[in-house]
Amino acid sequence: MYEYTNFYINGQWVLPEQEQTLEVLNPATEQPMGVVSMGTKADVDKAVAAAKAAFPAWSQTSRAQRISYLEAIIQAYQLRLDDIAAAISQEMGAPMWLATAAHAPTGLGHFVQALEVLQQYEFEAVRGQHRLRKEPIGVCGLITPWNWPINQIACKVAPAIAAGCTMVLKPSEVAPIDAMIFAEIIHQAGLPAGVFNLVNGDGTGVGAALTGHPDVDMVSFTGSTRAGVAIAKNAADTVKRVAQELGGKSANIILDDANLESAIVGGVNSCFMNSGQSCNAPTRMLVPASKLAEATAIAKAAGEAVVAGMPEAEGTNIGPVVSEVQFNKIQALIQQGIDEGAELVVGGTGKPAGLETGYFVKPTIFSHVNNQMTIAREEIFGPVLCILPYADEDDAIAIANDTPYGLSAYVSGSQDRAVRVANLLRAGNVHINGAGVDFSCPFGGYKQSGNGREWGKEGFDEYLEVKAILGCQ
Ligand code: NAD
Repeated sequence: MYEYTNFYINGQWVLPEQEQTLEVLNPATEQPMGVVSMGTKADVDKAVAAAKAAFPAWSQTSRAQRISYLEAIIQAYQLRLDDIAAAISQEMGAPMWLATAAHAPTGLGHFVQALEVLQQYEFEAVRGQHRLRKEPIGVCGLITPWNWPINQIACKVAPAIAAGCTMVLKPSEVAPIDAMIFAEIIHQAGLPAGVFNLVNGDGTGVGAALTGHPDVDMVSFTGSTRAGVAIAKNAADTVKRVAQELGGKSANIILDDANLESAIVGGVNSCFMNSGQSCNAPTRMLVPASKLAEATAIAKAAGEAVVAGMPEAEGTNIGPVVSEVQFNKIQALIQQGIDEGAELVVGGTGKPAGLETGYFVKPTIFSHVNNQMTIAREEIFGPVLCILPYADEDDAIAIANDTPYGLSAYVSGSQDRAVRVANLLRAGNVHINGAGVDFSCPFGGYKQSGNGREWGKEGFDEYLEVKAILGCQ
């Protein structure tokens, strides 16, 4: 049982202003696995004051100083990789192999990436007789979700530190334990007091206090579009910069000259990974209408091979979904897919056999889906794949773009055609022939998937202001 009833403020572990705790449930067992304190506005005020006080000195540190702090964090993080993986697996249900191979190392990867960007970043430029200077934006409020928890924390904290900002992190109350281990890492690395602060709490309490705080200069938020809208409104009163990374309903276009077998098997596995709880999951598989039957058969075999099981069990491909709330939402959407006439190919409602305890969802595939059905429009955030037929390439592009979201897209087929299609998709990331994500490339969405970019140089830019000093040359 993890017990973290303190917050990390001004370089110290401090008691919350009010005593109020939250039990964190392990979604595989429905048993408590940890307890954290729930903060209030008073805790946020304290943390923001610490970040504000630390900003003048931290923002004036040299590139070399910040590089050495990032190196210290990387070193401290490496020693805690296993602890982070174990905590994530227990708090949000990821299989241990995934927590170890993907979740925990992504956090480290963002620090390595931020270090590389900082090493090469050009903070100054000359324009005629003037000088342009990039400066840290100030105090940042960082709000993160539970689905790739350490990844989302690190991809905000690392560039913020590298840029010379100070910050208050509010991790998801659904999976807050890895964040506390992360705060221990920061402490171990010896970052100056007040640069990084952490307050736990829920969205409407601590989250709203942070996003509305007059001394917070920027908010970086990852989460649902619903919360993103509330945050943007709340931050508007104090004219903050708000970077949003929101939901998705990503299309996976399989062109008629693709290797059908590998494109479909890859698409199924990628959609189900992390129990479908990835904002960029390829949830709408678009196949040529003439190949729908063949594609459905391949997907059925691939879907039936996906094993839902206990996170630590050998052979488990996917664990439970994160909570009862998510479980019920996913069940209702699967039922709606059946009611709206989609063809259920694999899975369905109810729990997989032998997994009656825990929030396990059957890996589910629908075929003959049309893009107006609820299952094709709403982000399900569970292991549910929709297969949609398209008539020709233009039709595929139109269906792919016919969504309020625009986070990621996937295209398989001959390279030239795939690139031509990629150019016409309204999405921030397009993956061709199974190419994976790369932390050196910007990640973010078009349309209602957000308005910011994370990762790489573009992610770093978000934490900077530009000042023009006129007539100085
Ligand atoms: P959520 O929006 O419910 O919560 C995310 C965070 O925001 C939590 O820390 C929560 O406490 C906080 N929050 C909620 N309401 C708030 C408010 N009014 N003011 C301030 N803070 C508030 O999302 P979730 O359920 O934790 O995560 C799942 C969602 O995140 C999905 O929609 C998914 O697509 C999205 N997501 C997007 C990306 C991306 O980069 N685009 C990455 C991962 C997840």
